[in-house]
Amino acid sequence: MGILKQGDCADVQRVGIPRALLYYRYGTLWETFFGELGREVVLSRPTDRALMEAGEALSVDECCLASKTYLGHAESLLDSCDALFVPSMGNLGRRKGFCTKFQALPDLVANTFRDRGVRVASCLADAVEGRSSLRDAFLELGGCFGASPHEAKRAWRSALHAQERADRAAAGAQERLLASLAATQGAGRPLAILLVAHPYLAHDPYLGGSVVDPLERLGATVLYADEADHERALKASFDFSATMPWVVNRELIGAILLLHERIDDIVLVSAFPCGPDSMTDDAIMRCIQGKPILNLTIDAQSGTAGLETRIESFVDILRYQKKGGYVHG
Ligand code: SF4
Repeated sequence: MGILKQGDCADVQRVGIPRALLYYRYGTLWETFFGELGREVVLSRPTDRALMEAGEALSVDECCLASKTYLGHAESLLDSCDALFVPSMGNLGRRKGFCTKFQALPDLVANTFRDRGVRVASCLADAVEGRSSLRDAFLELGGCFGASPHEAKRAWRSALHAQERADRAAAGAQERLLASLAATQGAGRPLAILLVAHPYLAHDPYLGGSVVDPLERLGATVLYADEADHERALKASFDFSATMPWVVNRELIGAILLLHERIDDIVLVSAFPCGPDSMTDDAIMRCIQGKPILNLTIDAQSGTAGLETRIESFVDILRYQKKGGYVHG
């Protein structure tokens, strides 16, 4: 994929955004930015089995389930947009890196759909090596879409504020839920389970739904580690590790530390095979004391039956424990 230059995407009117991976972290920012530039955003439909299987067929076996699913989303948009938006996310600074998959994603998409005439609109956030912050990346992207520097700055500011508002609303709603749980004492209080997963698993109705739905059916209240205040969680993560390189994993671990006293149990969910999670989940299992932890991996083959059985057993054990039963943490 060539490097985008000023005005390269000026003719693009319909921007396709796969509803997967970092869409679940930055979706509001992306949609607002393109809306401010007067573009129509076309989102892929929520994940379903067909999209996941299409992505799997397009991917090499070694890819994780989340990135395989992304390709299914990307393919579903090819005929309904002028260009796909696929940012390259390297890092937001030192110790704030993204999984390498996110840096390579524009090339992966361009090469996978090379024969189908795909256009990829991209930008690079790499504050360490490339000295390009997320803001710089979007200002440059605005230029590629034909916006003046002033228009690009205005679009960036609106987009950033919209994303910050959305993040604050999610964190605020979760705080209120935690407060209402704390106010409900005794046997009537539902289990408060912290789901620790990348946002594109936790909030994807098909991938994360295979864990969240059974937990909720069993009467548990699910809280999301990725909805804790990102800055506070990131800061807290340095008490856990000074060297961990990935920003999202840092925020998830920081959220466990922040919420530890306010939750009953932890469910870790990873996509198979995830490099960052294989390290951090192991560290969490070894180092986080005093809370039962269930570690689940989602892959394309296993389906949901095995997951449901493990979740049911976990919740049964927790209820015995809560009643003062035979398990002692
Ligand atoms: S962090 Fe894990 S699940 Fe996410 S893209 Fe990277 S390998 Fe895949």
